[in-house]
Amino acid sequence: MQVPMLDLKLQFAGIKQEVMSAIEDVCDSQMLCLGPAVQAFEHEAAEFCGCKHAIGVSSGSDALIIALMALNVGPGDEVITTPFTFFATAGAIARLGAKPVFVDVDPGTYNIDPDLIEASITAKTRAIIPVHLFGQMAQMEPIMALARKHNLAVVEDAAQSIGAEQDHVPCGGVGTMGCFSFYPTKNLGAFGDGGMVTTNDDDLAQILRILRDHGQHPRYFYQRIGGNFRLDAIQGAVLSVKIKSLDDWSDKRRANAALYDELLADTHVTCPVIESNNLSVYNQYTIRSSHRDQLQAYLADKQIGSAIFYPKALHVQDCFADQGYSPGDFPVTETLCQEVLSLPIFPELTEDQIRTVARAIGDFSPA
Ligand SMILES: *Cc1c(COP(=O)(O)O)cnc(C)c1O
Repeated sequence: MQVPMLDLKLQFAGIKQEVMSAIEDVCDSQMLCLGPAVQAFEHEAAEFCGCKHAIGVSSGSDALIIALMALNVGPGDEVITTPFTFFATAGAIARLGAKPVFVDVDPGTYNIDPDLIEASITAKTRAIIPVHLFGQMAQMEPIMALARKHNLAVVEDAAQSIGAEQDHVPCGGVGTMGCFSFYPTKNLGAFGDGGMVTTNDDDLAQILRILRDHGQHPRYFYQRIGGNFRLDAIQGAVLSVKIKSLDDWSDKRRANAALYDELLADTHVTCPVIESNNLSVYNQYTIRSSHRDQLQAYLADKQIGSAIFYPKALHVQDCFADQGYSPGDFPVTETLCQEVLSLPIFPELTEDQIRTVARAIGDFSPA
């Protein structure tokens, strides 16, 4: 039985009529950038995330950039984050001329280890970007306590975690701002690129709205240098249709994960750890194996998809060579890069498919 890593066609089949009609409405209106379709989605998304404001932007990467721009982060500043994340988290910091300061992660949850953060705070530190990796929130209480103590902003990178909760509070409204991605492979995927910044701060919301449209306020009067970070109306319309099913899809991802947990318990692999105060939305189901590459090849041979997020830590990437890091600086992250393997977890997977994957992992023996 073939098991793809992800099959977006199955999800589309179930909502095709509604999506096509929402797109047609936008086409008929010819209001194509921002406009009423984006505004409607922003209201729905803010409510979904339990936040006062949601500002639609062009991508998750741009959400991070514009959030840091709103905080006036720039050259000479330092921003603390994890080296075990998608590139955009650190890329946003560096693109603004600031220095990404990396802190190692917890080996069970793969999220930033809050106990290691304070040692990295300096007089130049402006913000912390905890990443809610693979669908599970980083532990926010100790991070918020450090931020209050040292007067730092906290930007949640929630690109992989829309709908995730900690102590029954959804991500995106805990820190100063939350950044989301609607890249198609994320749990709420647009039909192309899209993103969003959330905040409960009225002043920041106003600044974000101005910055996403070149900094103009009022029209053709520029208070600050922003950029074109606008969200397309078609994306807003599609996202409004899809957000109605998001809780249902997250439930299915959790059910799939629970079945993997049960079936993989007695195999050689380590299952992901979800902390007791967390509700994960499982953007990925990521196991660890000390024979990862062999296991992946074995699965591929049986037509079972899998993926490595991430094969190389950010502190050792060529583009950050001038940041002063070396191999060995973050041992947990570096081990994870050798051992992690993400398995198919998308909502439409069948029980048979999950059993097929688990059986293959159980049958695998390293050479
Ligand atoms: C996907 C992702 C981003 C970037 O989002 P894009 O919409 O692809 O620009 C940022 N951070 C994390 C953790 C991501 O997974």
